[in-house]
Amino acid sequence: MAQGWLAHRMYFIHVIYNRLATRVYRIEAPMLPSFSPSQSLNTRIAARAAALLPNETQLYCSRRPRSQAAHERSNGGLIDNVPLHWMLDWPMPMPLVVERASGATLSDIDGNHVVDLCLGDTGAMFGHGPAPIIRALAGAAEHGLTTMLPSSDAEVVGQLLSQRFPLPHWQIASTASDANRFAIRVARAVTRRRKILVFDGCYHGAVDETLVDLIDGRTVSRKSLLGQVIDAEQTTVAVPFNDEAALRAALATREIACVLAEPVMTNCGMILPQPGFHTALRQLTRATETLLLIDETHTISTGLGGYSTIHRLEPDIFVLGKPVGGGVPVSIWGLSKDVACRFAIALRLRKSHGHSGIGTTLSGSALQLACLRACLEEVMTPAAYATMQAGAERIESGLTAAIKAAGFPWHVSRVGARIEVVFSQRPVRDAAEARAAASPAIESFLHLALLNRGFLLAPFHNMVLVSPVTSAEQCDGLVVAYGEVLQQLTEGEP
Ligand code: PMP
Repeated sequence: MAQGWLAHRMYFIHVIYNRLATRVYRIEAPMLPSFSPSQSLNTRIAARAAALLPNETQLYCSRRPRSQAAHERSNGGLIDNVPLHWMLDWPMPMPLVVERASGATLSDIDGNHVVDLCLGDTGAMFGHGPAPIIRALAGAAEHGLTTMLPSSDAEVVGQLLSQRFPLPHWQIASTASDANRFAIRVARAVTRRRKILVFDGCYHGAVDETLVDLIDGRTVSRKSLLGQVIDAEQTTVAVPFNDEAALRAALATREIACVLAEPVMTNCGMILPQPGFHTALRQLTRATETLLLIDETHTISTGLGGYSTIHRLEPDIFVLGKPVGGGVPVSIWGLSKDVACRFAIALRLRKSHGHSGIGTTLSGSALQLACLRACLEEVMTPAAYATMQAGAERIESGLTAAIKAAGFPWHVSRVGARIEVVFSQRPVRDAAEARAAASPAIESFLHLALLNRGFLLAPFHNMVLVSPVTSAEQCDGLVVAYGEVLQQLTEGEP
């Protein structure tokens, strides 16, 4: 209670601080472009965003001398002074160095406090350091972290998984990437088919076969990949999401072991399924004896049991990573009765004993099982989802009103606790439309301007995620800040 009061006080103090600081550090009025009336509104907004960005960059850096020094130090052992290269890909001038992340707040080593609406890109969906996870971590540390044997939590975890999710048989891995890799291997083993099908614009982790794009009707490896030797056309077919005809044609070849899909695409903007698309997907996969592998790593934001449970999708294989252990590296993959049976036979009929290609040493560890159990029993609860939904609804309606007031041709897309502003008037149907609507200039400006006002959004299309510990005041604060930033972008408009 006292902690909640303190958190609210600190939140308002930091909002006021941020507002004042914004005024103090605005050094000069930026030179804004003059617009020709023939430019589309989004082009004009992007030009204005680009012109306003240097001010925000200056403000961000002026508040973070220590983070900047850490970023620029030359004697570190880490490449570019970051533990993973893609931490430099955030749309901020240099990464802020985190001192502490707790609940829904993140503090950096320069003493800035922000509301964390990125939440580790979903890893901390239920807030940073939920108390049951901290207890589970302490218990696991005492009883043994990893033994390569089942712990006493194993049986309970199996029961909890089959009660919570729409499949009866489960295995544990360490990341969603791993779980997808293992699930694909199972699909190939039991169908004896080589290829998989994904939807253009997908992301399912560091999984070679899925890192493809659909270009001029051809499935090709992404140009950005390093060290890729696999020819994408040998392993993968990509088709546009929501395109029933393309899906039907690809599955008719009967070469596809499984369709690997997010039920709502979240990694190329937010692309909702058209009415009837999931029914068609299930019918077509069944008709061609193709397995349906649903990856709920992000769409678990939908509600208890994920999109599959709520919308009765009936997957053959189910994958969930990131938040399922409350922030601890663990993932789960589930099989239908039929697939589990065929998998057991395939395991038994292997040509020789030895590596199956499925599993890693730390997978299914006592630490992971303890955290999984705590998360399923005490963190990922109906009450938690109710609070998340309420907060997300507040943000959705607030942002919709702010966009309307600004007169921008944008809309808000939402999957439960997950929200995105899309720079198009109507929902996009596939990755090609999502790419056409995207604007790196607008995205970067919004990201940094909101961060300077105390709100950290995800580095990818400014996704906003509401946790059970994100307060209504924090949700309303984001809406106010968004409104101010959009206002800045409208100045100069006729
Ligand atoms: N599946 C989906 C849908 C994802 O969005 C991601 C990561 N963003 C992954 C899998 C991979 O997760 P990880 O990086 O934890 O392996």
